[in-house]
Amino acid sequence: MKIPKEAENIIRLLADNTHDAYVVGGCVRDTLIGRDPDDWDITTDAKPEEIKKIFHRTIDTGIEHGTVTVLMNGHSYEVTTYRVDGEYSDHRRPDSVSYTDNLIEDLKRRDFTINAMAYNHEKGLVDAFGGQEDLKKGIVRCVGTADERFTEDALRILRAIRFSAQLGFEIEANTLKAIGLHGKDLPAVSAERILVELNKTINSAHPENMRLIWEWGLDRYISEHFYLIKDASGLVPGYQGSWAALMRDNTPDEVRIVLKELKSDNDTLNRSIALVTEYKNPLPETAVEVRRILNRIGPELFNALMDMYESSGVSPEEIDRLMEIKSGIMIRGEAYTLKQLNITGNDLLSLGYKPGPQLGSVLEGLLEEVLEDPTLNSFDKLQKIASAM
Ligand code: ATP
Ligand code: MG
Repeated sequence: MKIPKEAENIIRLLADNTHDAYVVGGCVRDTLIGRDPDDWDITTDAKPEEIKKIFHRTIDTGIEHGTVTVLMNGHSYEVTTYRVDGEYSDHRRPDSVSYTDNLIEDLKRRDFTINAMAYNHEKGLVDAFGGQEDLKKGIVRCVGTADERFTEDALRILRAIRFSAQLGFEIEANTLKAIGLHGKDLPAVSAERILVELNKTINSAHPENMRLIWEWGLDRYISEHFYLIKDASGLVPGYQGSWAALMRDNTPDEVRIVLKELKSDNDTLNRSIALVTEYKNPLPETAVEVRRILNRIGPELFNALMDMYESSGVSPEEIDRLMEIKSGIMIRGEAYTLKQLNITGNDLLSLGYKPGPQLGSVLEGLLEEVLEDPTLNSFDKLQKIASAM
């Protein structure tokens, strides 16, 4: 298995100091299936204090659960001591963690078989729970008894759905059944963690796997008003999903309520509300209507809107036609914002208009004319129109 030079160095330095160390978890999984890992995590029998003695540049990322970040060549690697989790009493975090010198014990606490493999050049792949076989079969399966693993930490429910969506995997039958049983524990999980998993699911290769949330009755436990979303039919195989697509049939107010509950960032909130609002309008037909949409939501959201229409059944030919109208507008530089008008507020002032809200409405009126007929966007014509207003 090919692993980054820095990870090799970290493992070698730990070995030079009599410690075992492996790359572990997501990076092993992704490498085995030919995906590029986001990050490389290392697991070792060295304790945090020992890790810090061996490496010069470290950050105490989560030292209370054994994680130290090692900085090397401008990259950072999380190095975590082999760990076993104590009792779980809040359906989210272990009450305590303790160290072990047994790698298998560490792998056993991990969520899914495909995430519970470790590798180093010396020992090769350590796969004690059939992770490789499940990777081959395309299965998300809990390590150990699914029922217990989801009772311990309800976040794993959403992680199972997320990995199934990212990898296009099935969820193994017992794991699936346990998802249904433990949805009720989801309120123990913070909105932030829920949002991370839902975002990864919606933005995955198989956003339609969000349907599992409704199939297993999880929608009632994700957040107070999440049930207002009726199903996942807005997320269609082969299309990049988005919150707006998921909530296309909800009201803008409902979109706001749900995304606020999930502590979404304002940018996503505003974009989603704008798209859902716009989606309720009839499909545009003419260039004038396309320019009006561009005026309301801008060119980037226009593309997202077209994706929403296409995934709701509008023919690809019609979408292509509208995208061409849009490209034409952009290429010809036709105005759809006040900024693009060939007359400014200052121009109007020097023509004798008084400052104030009236000036704004004159400009809006001019833009309205130009949206209808782009050939009117010259200083002379706009000046004439203004004086007749
Ligand atoms: P990603 O590609 O999103 O980073 P990942 O598998 O690396 O996926 P992380 O959240 O980075 O996921 O976690 C790293 C590893 O830690 C996982 O592969 C898994 O072994 C373990 N892990 C993470 N979260 C949990 C959890 N809630 N319960 C059990 N094990 C977990
Ligand atoms: Mg990771």
